[in-house]
Amino acid sequence: MGRLMLNCCDYDAITLYHSGELNSRYKTDLSGKLECMERIPYGAQITDSFQDGAYQTFRTMEPIVLYRVFGQYRGSEPAPKGARLNGGFASTEFAESIIDAKLRLALNPAWANTKMYEARLTVPAGVTISIGTVASVVLKTGTVLPGGADQVLLPQGWPESWITGYRRLTARQLQSPPYFSPQKPPEYDSKENLYRMICPACGCGECRKLPEGEQFTITGSKGNPYVMQYACLNPDCQYYW
Ligand SMILES: [Zn+2]
Repeated sequence: MGRLMLNCCDYDAITLYHSGELNSRYKTDLSGKLECMERIPYGAQITDSFQDGAYQTFRTMEPIVLYRVFGQYRGSEPAPKGARLNGGFASTEFAESIIDAKLRLALNPAWANTKMYEARLTVPAGVTISIGTVASVVLKTGTVLPGGADQVLLPQGWPESWITGYRRLTARQLQSPPYFSPQKPPEYDSKENLYRMICPACGCGECRKLPEGEQFTITGSKGNPYVMQYACLNPDCQYYW
């Protein structure tokens, strides 16, 4: 029936990996793309966000791809909370999942970043940036968010024209590099948005539940049967799960 050609969720093959493991293969390699500059001094809050307060300032010698996790929420209070799209921090790695982003980027819940979205940007040549490693954060509860991703501090007010795509972060760990869409997400999210169904493979919101007559069963790689109940409508993804 050609079903074998479809991009179906093989639940038998879903394995959890350690945070950063997928990105160790896919993150942006900066070697040879940067030229050392005199270190820009920052205040304590920014300096301490780098592991051991250590960072170096560089100028890009060619375009580099970075990722920024963001998301703001407007509840009943007048001021929205969270992380805005063009904030200063980015990384060389994409978010493997919401939880992995929280761990690798040490995103303290007190900052109210909804971690809903990720922007992919291409920083052009000739831009001054500072790079270190994300420092760990200890929460009031004693939980340690280890950090460990590359932390890149962009120039203030970097232009939106650097952005080459957006996506929703997935709850499930990615098994391959994500898709980014040109569609810009809303500036603030409401509760309905936060809990909307998304594709677990690409993070897009264009999904549908298959009517019973269109649902079908696949055999996973360990021989177990799984009913495919949802379809992703993103033409680059077309995932079934
Ligand atoms: Zn998809």
